[in-house]
Amino acid sequence: MAILETENRLPAFMQYEKLNAAIGVVKQQFSRQQPVHAYLLTGARGLGKRTLARVLASALFCTSENKPCGVCPACRRVMDGNEPDFLEVYSDDGSTISVDRVREIIQKVSQHAFGTGYRVVLIEPVEKMTLQAQNCLLKSLEEPIANVVFLLMTHELTATLGTIASRCIRVKLTPWPDDILRETLLDAGYVSTDIENVLSRCGGNIGTALDTLDAGKLNSEAQQFAMDALAVLNDAAAVSLSTKLKEDKGSADTYLTAIEHAIHQALMVRTSQLDPSFISQYPSHWQKAAEKAPVSEINALLSAVFATRRRKAGQVNWQSNIDHLMIRLLEENTRWQQL
Ligand SMILES: [Zn+2]
Repeated sequence: MAILETENRLPAFMQYEKLNAAIGVVKQQFSRQQPVHAYLLTGARGLGKRTLARVLASALFCTSENKPCGVCPACRRVMDGNEPDFLEVYSDDGSTISVDRVREIIQKVSQHAFGTGYRVVLIEPVEKMTLQAQNCLLKSLEEPIANVVFLLMTHELTATLGTIASRCIRVKLTPWPDDILRETLLDAGYVSTDIENVLSRCGGNIGTALDTLDAGKLNSEAQQFAMDALAVLNDAAAVSLSTKLKEDKGSADTYLTAIEHAIHQALMVRTSQLDPSFISQYPSHWQKAAEKAPVSEINALLSAVFATRRRKAGQVNWQSNIDHLMIRLLEENTRWQQL
């Protein structure tokens, strides 16, 4: 999810070992070029697993003395997703990870590395792999390929993943203690008063903290637009918002991002990752939705906003693109009003 991406905020987030000593040990294995063949990073969404994986890969490829430095070309390549020996497989849109995708990756890493000799494969999240894909991966874990390191991630460690988990070193991310989170956010350049405001409500979830701090930067007009969008309950209101977006296509990205953020906050409340006080200013039907609407429906609406933004970059007719989104919002708002 773009809004949660932390990749541009590095290297302020390099100090993971402060979270717990075990992470420090694992990081040393990478910076000393002695990683084992597979790690399983566990912990709820938003605790920083993906960024930790990139930090570890950086430590392995880094060319500076203090690894990872975050600034050498090797570190930058990993962080920017341009390192050919660092392969990432995601299921960001919730789709499954197929056996073909896994086979393709394993075949790729079985060939010679481009750089220092190591190749790192990141898979997130492993629970999205089909059973076939998991079995295919399992074979590589049972018969490790020389100089290949797997960084597997799971938001939720289930019993079915037991066989994979048993072949990995486990690294567990837990909610961030306030003092470390505060220091990290200060390092990343956020304002102290904003940080204090967020700390008490984010439950140690750095993703939520960043999400909220960044949303604070969205201008108030965009935030008002998002609230208006969530309040659309009749055709007239939909047309009025739709007109605003059509006439102000230049600001549309900001408006759409604000809507995305607002829906995402509701989703976080719905999945108990965020305190309901975060959305106390939302229309009442949204507060109900955040309490009992099916998660899949909130997710689907979020995807619809994503799709609108993606199509904006393409050559799709802007007017029909916007109308489509407004109809979706109107439908969902109406349905949730009846909850
Ligand atoms: Zn470096």
